Amino acid sequence: MVHAVYPGSFDPITNGHLDIIKRAVKMFSSLTVAILINPRKKPLFTANERLQMIQAAITHERLSVKIDMFEGLLVEYARQIRADVILRGLRAVSDFEFEFQLSLMNRRLEPSINTVYLMASADTTYLSSGLIKEIAALGGDVTSFVPIGVAERLLKKL
Ligand code: ADP
Repeated sequence: MVHAVYPGSFDPITNGHLDIIKRAVKMFSSLTVAILINPRKKPLFTANERLQMIQAAITHERLSVKIDMFEGLLVEYARQIRADVILRGLRAVSDFEFEFQLSLMNRRLEPSINTVYLMASADTTYLSSGLIKEIAALGGDVTSFVPIGVAERLLKKL
């Protein structure tokens, strides 16, 4: 029984995140998608809005996933929910340096929790929440890059 936690900003969820979630539900006995509430970051969507968009996506895909929010140290939160593994996605080489540093620090803080990485899929590896917000703000159609309902929410927000 391995419980994985997939933390992130998900501002908003993209097809890249959804791809990682779909693959992870087949690998772990349970999966919690955890939205980071970071007072130092200024997200476009509130934590509740981000949760609703993730909820709509996983309901649509009929996935058995728990969604939660957390503030503060990830390893502390992972301990609280008794997660065995932290799950992250890796896109290009540019993700690697930061993720490597993060995983070493998290292991130092909590040696019993390992970080597991899934490589992005070829057709979603270029997707990031930031780029999608930028394209939407400039009037581009992002429907094919994000799960159901997200493009409409972006249009309303921007
Ligand atoms: P954070 O702000 O913590 O990086 P994100 O919401 O941007 O949160 O991403 C959460 C996780 O999902 C990170 O591990 C990130 O590398 C991964 N991720 C983001 N976009 C993709 C994608 N297109 N394919 C695979 N993994 C991704």
